[in-house]
Amino acid sequence: MNIILMGLPGAGKGTQASEIIKKYPIPHISTGDMFRKAIKDETELGKEAKSFMDRGELVPDEVTVGIVKERISEDDAKKGFLLDGFPRTIEQAEALNSILEDLGREIDAVVNIDVPEEELMNRLTGRRICEICGTTYHLVFNPPKVEGTCDLEGGKLYQREDDNPETVANRLDVNIKQSKPILDFYSQKGVLKNIDGSKNINEVTEDVITILESLK
Ligand SMILES: [Zn+2]
Repeated sequence: MNIILMGLPGAGKGTQASEIIKKYPIPHISTGDMFRKAIKDETELGKEAKSFMDRGELVPDEVTVGIVKERISEDDAKKGFLLDGFPRTIEQAEALNSILEDLGREIDAVVNIDVPEEELMNRLTGRRICEICGTTYHLVFNPPKVEGTCDLEGGKLYQREDDNPETVANRLDVNIKQSKPILDFYSQKGVLKNIDGSKNINEVTEDVITILESLK
């Protein structure tokens, strides 16, 4: 079961990833973890990636793709994998295709947790933090008893710069522009599965599992 998980920030991708790996014996391979492991294990590619990162440069595609290839060739990924955060570009998607071809494998499904932008804005801009104790609230999902005030000691709640509507809208725009061509790419290959991510978490998980069961 070779799966790619996609979803914009706030779509609940992390939650769904952990539900998937609870149910199926496949590793969750996120790009970040993969880089950290290659660097820690001091593989040739890990060393190469590190040299770019140390200089504050982007790791070139061929290095990233090489690290992905190493990772999905490992024993625990022989029965399948859940890729998260990769591919990010069409070039990487093409490269992934040829890696899998070499290994005699293919992508079975690209699960896209689809949530309308407006809902993502609500989710991502609702966070408030207590300036005294640092407790996190959410205006919709976990509101304080009294608006603008911490339940614990009455501290004032503030919004982080990262969570303000303008910053969030920009972040979403960048991600939408980046993911659109990849979703199109897999849609043309007939493996894109859109899941309605605006439902509650358990319903979304059920829908994801239904899709994955249908692949068996
Ligand atoms: Zn507080």
